[in-house]
Amino acid sequence: MTLKLSVLASGSSGNIIYIESDKTSILIDAGLSKKRTEILLNKIGKDLNDVKAIFVSHEHVDHIRGVGVINRYYDTLIYGNNDTLSCDKFKKTTGIINEDSLNFIDPHESIIFDDLKITAFPTSHDSINSQFYIIEHQDKKLVCLTDTGHVNLETLSLIKSADVYLIESNHDVDLLLNGNRPEFNKQRILSLLGHLSNEDCGNVLSNCINETTHSIVLCHMSNDHNNETIALKSVKNTLSKNCNFFSNSINIIAFTQKGDPTGFINV
Ligand SMILES: [Zn+2]
Ligand SMILES: [Zn+2]
Repeated sequence: MTLKLSVLASGSSGNIIYIESDKTSILIDAGLSKKRTEILLNKIGKDLNDVKAIFVSHEHVDHIRGVGVINRYYDTLIYGNNDTLSCDKFKKTTGIINEDSLNFIDPHESIIFDDLKITAFPTSHDSINSQFYIIEHQDKKLVCLTDTGHVNLETLSLIKSADVYLIESNHDVDLLLNGNRPEFNKQRILSLLGHLSNEDCGNVLSNCINETTHSIVLCHMSNDHNNETIALKSVKNTLSKNCNFFSNSINIIAFTQKGDPTGFINV
């Protein structure tokens, strides 16, 4: 029994998560070009012929840049909710996608895809109907969650008790406030429809992890307003203050945008 993953890319320049089980392989988002996706998959010994489907989170270009070209070249199935897959921005970015490739999964819906159970849940973001995904295989649970300014109680209860979390730890609030971005841009990032800060990430995890949680990957980190040291320190501090389940045996990795894919992480 296998469920494993590699984060190929994460952050505002592009997002791709590779997930593999005994019977299937999928991507969550394809936010880089086909060429770049091929190169990154190659680094983990895989290629796009192995990938059966791309599950799309939302229509921002850093999540869908490669979706159309990959679909046309490899016939890869595309999953997402109807609002996302039919919006103008999605269509403009992806170009023509064969109708037969499109499959729908709404927030709060679960589907069986080969030997995976995949559940979509809503996120709080400045996009049309954004969602992220919980992937389950037998008794293993993986939660993927980025691009959200807030996590409500309903979502917290859905994402509780996972073995592995890939979760947004976008910025350090002080670095962002003291940075030289335009004010409206800072407010967008900080808003309930923006991105989770390091501290937000620690607080979400404090409400979710339990004794089965063994690995956490901090994702969608800002290049300008965050770094590996600050993010890890902040998340670990928040967890150790607020969460009885936190221990140093949990493997926490900060994925920076400059990084190569993570090695395979077994769920
Ligand atoms: Zn994004
Ligand atoms: Zn986004």
